[in-house]
Amino acid sequence: MLVGPWVTDYTASAAREVVLATDDVSPHRALECAACGASVEAPVVLGTGASGLGRAGWPRGPCRGCGGTRLRAPFSPPYRPHADLAALRARTVGLLAERGGLGPASAEAPPDGPAGPTSSPPPRWRLEVTLDGADLVLERHNGWLPVKIATLVVCALAIFPAVDPPNWCIASEVYALEQRARWRLVDGGAGAEREGRVVVRTRADVAAFGPGVTRSWFVVGFLRVPHCLDEEDWAELAAQLLPTAQEDLARAVVAAVEQAATPGPD
Ligand SMILES: [Zn+2]
Repeated sequence: MLVGPWVTDYTASAAREVVLATDDVSPHRALECAACGASVEAPVVLGTGASGLGRAGWPRGPCRGCGGTRLRAPFSPPYRPHADLAALRARTVGLLAERGGLGPASAEAPPDGPAGPTSSPPPRWRLEVTLDGADLVLERHNGWLPVKIATLVVCALAIFPAVDPPNWCIASEVYALEQRARWRLVDGGAGAEREGRVVVRTRADVAAFGPGVTRSWFVVGFLRVPHCLDEEDWAELAAQLLPTAQEDLARAVVAAVEQAATPGPD
């Protein structure tokens, strides 16, 4: 079994398009500074002059806060983390090798790399995987929510409004990272191809403070999420979920591929 490079077919939130402060852009397009996150409004232009005829937009100019010249669209949910494709591929190879059902597994040598030993016959199977999407969302609140509301009320009466320390550690928010992947298995022996899709949702119960996965703290945050979370908050959550999520995805792909390669009863 040879495993080709994993590829992605989605744009991670942090990799969204950047325009320069000197580029002409529509005044209606919302842009923020890529460095400090401040909104960068279109300049007010009085009259267009001869040089302005036919222009679709105007340069937005650098950020007034920090002078940054790289601008981009504001973050809009869902948060899409970067996938560690090298780690996903290495883990796929490792799992296939461990299980051994499809013969010895290895990562395919790059096309321009050094040629490997040619004495052994080429493996029968070759696997390609494309990651179509990865969305991090607040899926639901679990059964702790009513308890937290009661705790908030008790703390508001006994301590101070909106200061409810027990709630900071009770994990009532269930976040899910959904990864969607397509795989293609080429059977060199039979000259056939098989394809399939897997969707994996990795979930975590989350509170502002540990134990377990945590998110940034906000005043009565458990009633305000997900709207109070900004891009950095989502990125922090994603970083905590990704190791488990990538393991889940590699296992799901390997299980699907093994099943497809095993002759069915028909
Ligand atoms: Zn700035």
